Amino acid sequence: MSGTMMHQQLTIGSIIDHAARYHGQTEVVSVETTGGMYRSNWAKVQANARRLASALEKLGVKQGERCATIAWNNIRHLEIYFGVSSAGMVTHTINPRLFPEQLVYIINHAQDQVLFLDKTFLPIAAKLGEHLKTVKHVVLMGPRDEESAAMVEGLLFYDELLETGDPDYTWPDVDENAPSSMCYTSGTTGHPKGVQYTHRSTVLHSIAGNQPDGIAISATDTVLPVVPMFHVSAWGVPYIAAMTGCKLVLPGPGLDGESLVRLIDGEQVTLALGVPTIWMGLLAALESTGSKAASLQRTVVGGSALPPSMIPVFKEKYGVDLVHAWGMTETSPLGTLNQLLQKHQSLDAQEQAEIRLGQGRAPWGVELRLVDESGAVLPNDGKTQGDLQIRGHWIVESYFGADGTALTDDGWFDTGDVATIDADGYMIIRDRSKDIIKSGGEWISTVELENIAMAHPGVAMAAAIAARHEKWDERPVLIVVKAEAQDPDEAELRAFYEGKIASWQVPDAVIFVDELPIGATGKVLKNKLREAYGDTLISGT
Ligand code: AMP
Repeated sequence: MSGTMMHQQLTIGSIIDHAARYHGQTEVVSVETTGGMYRSNWAKVQANARRLASALEKLGVKQGERCATIAWNNIRHLEIYFGVSSAGMVTHTINPRLFPEQLVYIINHAQDQVLFLDKTFLPIAAKLGEHLKTVKHVVLMGPRDEESAAMVEGLLFYDELLETGDPDYTWPDVDENAPSSMCYTSGTTGHPKGVQYTHRSTVLHSIAGNQPDGIAISATDTVLPVVPMFHVSAWGVPYIAAMTGCKLVLPGPGLDGESLVRLIDGEQVTLALGVPTIWMGLLAALESTGSKAASLQRTVVGGSALPPSMIPVFKEKYGVDLVHAWGMTETSPLGTLNQLLQKHQSLDAQEQAEIRLGQGRAPWGVELRLVDESGAVLPNDGKTQGDLQIRGHWIVESYFGADGTALTDDGWFDTGDVATIDADGYMIIRDRSKDIIKSGGEWISTVELENIAMAHPGVAMAAAIAARHEKWDERPVLIVVKAEAQDPDEAELRAFYEGKIASWQVPDAVIFVDELPIGATGKVLKNKLREAYGDTLISGT
């Protein structure tokens, strides 16, 4: 044997071992579900993860079996991430905001053996109990408390469970292609679908997603993932954080603007990640508290389209760079990140902000393409809209427990998004394919209509939907929540579109509502709006 290189498995266990060995004393701070802060570090996270893995083995959980969590972003959740996966079991994170029937479906479908719960969610477990067919152990993520013990028969307590674990436990050999974690799609139509990530896909996603033109976390950062650990592994941040040995701040249940401002200032957070609605709350709280979020350098924003006003507000008022990212459960999730190229450096702030508003470009490891309805590949000219497809090392191939592949005949995953891609690879999401408005054969982007509406001072939130139309098949209708103490009317809002888009794209009607229906991952439920207002333009309704 000569001229060879070492071959090692790409495993999650190796990530937490690295964190403990080289960044053991770096802090991991957690806001606890019961209030108060807990200060740990990477060495302790690894030690507890080992104990937990050993305790689970003693309970009889086998490699490849799923252990579910319904939990906030906190220290025990992080230990479960690393302990369960490094032992060869599968961390199945569940979104607590799903309906009870969906929770039951997901837990039974995944055949979860263990269910870890934060105290907040104990009533859910108490209610679902008899419907859960495979769960053998329910574990409350905290110390013993008698009130909780009385709610669920046989309830175990995380802190006691750790005590039963062997502190000298070492990770078993795990194949890099073995499953490590799992997440179900939010499933606004039909049943949620399970996506199982592997050790290899997770490690590659973490390395590639964290390049300097990606999330770019370094050991000098203090990182606040506001994006939930139940939402596509908090975009991979727990793994990236351990890989880089940064300080990690886990925000627990308090995701309101003021709690976040306190955490950012208190822990000197340099990078925070989350969905746009969270940053709306943060901006309002910065205004009201007078904080300048002086330590904050960057935020990564994704999960739904970025309101255009956000980039300049963050930059000009607080000096914070905003990095827009796109992805989905099926893509681990990082599919694109928006950082500038060398040639953009000479552009002025306004021009740069315009580029940054798009969803960005693919890192090494994934490729994007656009296709038309017949599957023919479309040009990357920044104008032609088509169905966005993706392939790469951390993209789903088949759904858990489902027959057949999730891919096209030539091996791409169809995202269900409609997008454009320019010659530099910058992608812009124009719509979900099921949301886009098809008016007389022309397409109207609901995202564009919403962005314009949101720039009107009288609008707090806006959603555009396709309403059925006798002549044009579909026409846009705008559903609006008014801003506080503002009273815009329909004519004023329709006039606001003049000069900004073609006149045939202006919504036919504006409907004012008190609130928009929001789904489990914080996105507006357009299907509910279409059910309620889809016939608004049909005569007689
Ligand atoms: P989920 O699997 O729940 O994370 O949802 C994925 C979907 O969210 C994508 O297919 C997009 O439609 C949408 N999405 C995610 N990130 C963005 C973004 N930055 N801009 C617009 N839509 C987004």
